[in-house]
Amino acid sequence: MTSTAPSENIKEDREDQISFKLISEIIRERIISDNARFHANDNIADYIYPGELEILEKEVASRVRDLLKTLLIDIDKDHNTQETAERVSRMYINEVFKGRFYEQPKVTSFPNDKNLDEIYTVGPITVRSACSHHLVPILGDCWIGIKPGKKVIGLSKFARVADWVFSRPHIQEEAVMILADEIERLCEPKGLGIIVKAQHYCMKWRGVKEPDTSMINSVVRGDFRHDSSLKQEFFELVRQQSNSAKNY
Ligand SMILES: [Zn+2]
Repeated sequence: MTSTAPSENIKEDREDQISFKLISEIIRERIISDNARFHANDNIADYIYPGELEILEKEVASRVRDLLKTLLIDIDKDHNTQETAERVSRMYINEVFKGRFYEQPKVTSFPNDKNLDEIYTVGPITVRSACSHHLVPILGDCWIGIKPGKKVIGLSKFARVADWVFSRPHIQEEAVMILADEIERLCEPKGLGIIVKAQHYCMKWRGVKEPDTSMINSVVRGDFRHDSSLKQEFFELVRQQSNSAKNY
């Protein structure tokens, strides 16, 4: 008994340390050991096991509580901010940054039996994101143009995938590229064009405080890139759709 006791103690100590590991540390270690990237606009759902998001939600809430305290807000006495940490944590994980923590919504593709090859555009699709630099909102519209390939997906699916991609901290240029990658993967179009027009609250609310400035960027791939008349047709269709679009 005396000879085995020390090593058992060490083992117990180690188990104690493991049980005190934060869930964010456990998930981060899984990602790193897989040599995967976890930038702000990456999806990390594969590394989060069932039940862990709820634990992460608690950890994030405690960090937000620390932030509020450090900002010298009396969260114990101020009834307006007593539950703010929990609300912010839930909002980040399950709403505005859900595209990091949740898997892509299920998208079923169908064979393009009729060999449709006319281009079509979908939009405006409302996109909501946050800038990676300040974590304040980016709100805008997105138009997607497709020249179908072997597979087609339902129109509403474009909005679902766009929402999932944009619900992460981003810079707009990369958001559009990531959305293009996902759509190419889902329906392998012969041509793809995406335009995003968005307003950035880091310019409206802070910084230069320019309330009406927006940023427009686009990506064109496949036939849209090689065939200038097709590209023109795409931009013309979007122009028609955007004439009726709302202003932010
Ligand atoms: Zn910003």
